[in-house]
Amino acid sequence: MGIMQPPPPTGHASEDAKDFLIEEEGIAASLGIDAAMVEGIDTKTASLHQWPKAVADLYQTNVSNRLFREGNFLFLLGLLTCLLTIVIDALVNPAMVAEGMLLRVLAVVPVTMLGLMASTRGWSKILSFCVGASPIVFIAVVVHLAVHLPPDLAPRYTNSAILLIGLANMILPYSLRGLVIFDLAALFVMGLMLGLGGNEFLWAHIDTLLIAGLVAGATLPVAARFEKLRQNNFLLTLRARIFSRELLKANSALLALSETDPLTGIANRRCFERAFESSIVAPGRNGRGNDRIALMMIDLDHFKSFNDAHGHQAGDSCLKMVADVLTDIFDEAGGIVARYGGEEFIAAVRVSDPSKIAALAEEVRRTIATVLTPISDSNRSLVTASIGVGVAPASALLPREELIEMADAALYSGKDAGRNRVEMVEAEPAFRGRP
Ligand code: GH3
Ligand code: MG
Ligand code: MG
Repeated sequence: MGIMQPPPPTGHASEDAKDFLIEEEGIAASLGIDAAMVEGIDTKTASLHQWPKAVADLYQTNVSNRLFREGNFLFLLGLLTCLLTIVIDALVNPAMVAEGMLLRVLAVVPVTMLGLMASTRGWSKILSFCVGASPIVFIAVVVHLAVHLPPDLAPRYTNSAILLIGLANMILPYSLRGLVIFDLAALFVMGLMLGLGGNEFLWAHIDTLLIAGLVAGATLPVAARFEKLRQNNFLLTLRARIFSRELLKANSALLALSETDPLTGIANRRCFERAFESSIVAPGRNGRGNDRIALMMIDLDHFKSFNDAHGHQAGDSCLKMVADVLTDIFDEAGGIVARYGGEEFIAAVRVSDPSKIAALAEEVRRTIATVLTPISDSNRSLVTASIGVGVAPASALLPREELIEMADAALYSGKDAGRNRVEMVEAEPAFRGRP
């Protein structure tokens, strides 16, 4: 506790802790992605493979997360649609219901269930496959059923397959390359199923295949634009997160700096004031009613003469040495210490045994007196300190300023009495009785 830490930064940017980018900001830090790396990507021109590898990898993680997030929803939607189309079968051609149901249960349902399982087990490759395979199997079933329909009804089924291809290009969580593969596979399966209906059927419906190709070709550029927007959005959000992280880091560094004494590296007065409340006063608010709070003013004796005799640099080194010994002592005692200004230090402890206060102050005095003791000069201390202690029951909740006044009064009486000594002032009995 001797060297007090600045408070943790407050107001972290992550209000919505579930936002996946927050996780990714953490990952970004661990991958060594910094603001300059993301800033260097030109969102207008650079394609994914021109991004720095770490950022591109992070984006792929993002895509994979999206696949898992969207996968479940799409499978459940697909399953529901698949079951509802059985009703359509019944309306269009009741004779087809049994076959339609059988095909759906045997083909669409297993792929969808496998996808759902892959999603919960984290099998990303199988999940990715099933997300595309499920609608393709659905298209196969629909086109196969169309073969059995009268020529005027068949287009209703083939058109729904075309619609599904266009829709898939808009909603499937694939990259553009993934969508192209999906479209080619869907067109192939569609052609295959039309071909299974016989040559005549295939030629009669070749326009269906052409329209499906046109729909796929027309929706792909839109999908590509969506993908580009998603990439830009990812970069902008990542950039904002990294900036806010760096801002928070700079902010806590500044805070630490503003609470540190530059010469000795220990806490300064401002830090002491904060820590006095949080580390000395607050811990006793619930119970420990008999505790005492001791505040010490530690002032080096005749330090001006020391500077005059040994120079300012030596004076500085001496202040650092004193700061170090004070830190050790008050760390050990569970107290706090800071440089108050000039050659004056301030410290505070909270104790349950009052006799420890005098012993601690005496230890401080003795240790400072031994910090600089030249062997050649008959062991006479080069530096001593006078210590004024203000003591009050913790339950009196005496303001810090009053304790400082008491410690100051004690300090000056110690100076008057010859220096290199400890003087103590206790709070008025009236305070001691306070609940
Ligand atoms: P006293 O025993 O009455 O406290 O005498 P003193 O000389 O210590 O007190 P005074 O207030 O007259 O002088 C304080 C001296 O502390 C003056 C100044 O040169 C020295 N001092 C204050 N800050 C620093 C510092 O950062 N570095 C060095 N080297 N000296 C400092
Ligand atoms: Mg002094
Ligand atoms: Mg002084």
